[in-house]
Amino acid sequence: MFKRVLLKLSGEFLSDDSGFGINPDTTRQLAQLIISALEGTQVELAVVIGGGNLWRGARNGKGMDPATADYIGMLGTVMNAMALQDAMEAAGKPTRVMSAIQMQAVAEPYIRRRAIRHLEKDRVVIFGGGNGAPFFTTDTTSTLRALEVGADVVLMAKNKVDGVYDKDPQKFTDAVRFDTLTHMDVVEQRLAVMDATALTLCMDKGLPIVVFDIFQEGNLRRLFEGERVGTLIRT
Ligand code: UDP
Repeated sequence: MFKRVLLKLSGEFLSDDSGFGINPDTTRQLAQLIISALEGTQVELAVVIGGGNLWRGARNGKGMDPATADYIGMLGTVMNAMALQDAMEAAGKPTRVMSAIQMQAVAEPYIRRRAIRHLEKDRVVIFGGGNGAPFFTTDTTSTLRALEVGADVVLMAKNKVDGVYDKDPQKFTDAVRFDTLTHMDVVEQRLAVMDATALTLCMDKGLPIVVFDIFQEGNLRRLFEGERVGTLIRT
């Protein structure tokens, strides 16, 4: 069983079928899914949420100063973190949003030792604001925060993809899913797991990654209990 886990959620998990914006019903369902999976386990949970449902620097910021475009993206992740916090707390789970960009009216500033303390007290810590630096993605935030708070694993939650395949399973019917891979396999075969910067950091530090379908009934719970689900990437 894992003791401390970093769960990476895509911003799109908060939106309706359009993939854009924050839908309160969808957000509530996601919060409920996470809370049910946690119930009765001893797992301490940290969450990093992306912002792709609101803004992606490279996609939406064409013609802009790229750093500014990325800062807008980071602010989007704080909006998502607040929406998830609202939904989790409405369902009775104590949480804290910690932002890498200081905005004390809505979120605590990110302070590593404080984040660890929250986790020890069984609060779900939701990291907003990415790394607080442009030219990164929330994949790197997930890896960085996981290492900082001493998480055992990064759980990369996907929708409708239940692991890492040798080719895109939505395009190729003969695509084969891997049960386990090394970080180096992922690099050498250029498999789509997370961006290269994040993956390299995991490889350097020996941090395991699991890629799994969060919306498949029971998957998150099984992972929290230490069962094998999806694809495990380790050194
Ligand atoms: N971003 C950034 N630095 C970070 C994290 C995020 O600049 O440390 C920006 C970047 O523009 C990115 C956007 O925030 O495109 C949204 O994050 P991401 O694309 O990772 O969200 P996801 O696809 O996981 O929803």
